Amino acid sequence: MLIAGNWKMYKGPAETAAFCTALRERDFSGVDVVVCPPFVSLAIAVQLLAGTEIGVAAQNVHWEPEGAFTGEISAPMLRELGVYGAIVGHSERRQHFGETDEAVAQRARAALDAGLFVIACVGETENEREAGETEDVLRRQVSVLEADENLVVAYEPVWAIGTGKTATPELAQEAHAFVKSVLGAPVLYGGSVKPENARDLLAQPDVDGALVGGASLDVESFAAICQAALPS
Ligand code: PEP
Repeated sequence: MLIAGNWKMYKGPAETAAFCTALRERDFSGVDVVVCPPFVSLAIAVQLLAGTEIGVAAQNVHWEPEGAFTGEISAPMLRELGVYGAIVGHSERRQHFGETDEAVAQRARAALDAGLFVIACVGETENEREAGETEDVLRRQVSVLEADENLVVAYEPVWAIGTGKTATPELAQEAHAFVKSVLGAPVLYGGSVKPENARDLLAQPDVDGALVGGASLDVESFAAICQAALPS
């Protein structure tokens, strides 16, 4: 079971230091825990979580190792910092930064080749779900990815991200089983995961963990979600 916290554009180095100092006191044995701070906060997170089992991942990564790509960060740069992995294809990047399926696949490939662990996000919008297009969208987004032992997929229905609307455990299970029929990879659920709903979602047979946004910004609620992932 993997619980990853996507901090989005929250927590600079000072807040990251406070969070990691508190987090490293917790015992999460039995669960893989990863935090994904903004780029500028990765170094302090790596430093403060060194010697713990908690991994640090970036929220994006470029496909070239270096070059004229203003504003981008490459996989070798993340590796140099001691970062363990990267998210690719988050719906906020697809929505606001024009990220295409092909670009997401390129980012994933480069990160895996550089030795990073990758969380590749997929998920349908509300309109796509209402139009009955969920499986077509998931097939399109997932089929560009190549299976790899260091790749996990995060199923994040866009209508559930940051909205407080969570997929029902049954709906998540159905989508996860579909994703796994397209690509053999573990699948995390993401979309308004909270301490209150985590246990039911994580109990589904094809839910292999969670990618948590808002509720990962507070140590107590993030720790509670990690606890919910422990076998009962
Ligand atoms: C996310 O950012 O990946 C996410 C799932 O956000 P939230 O948990 O806030 O819906």
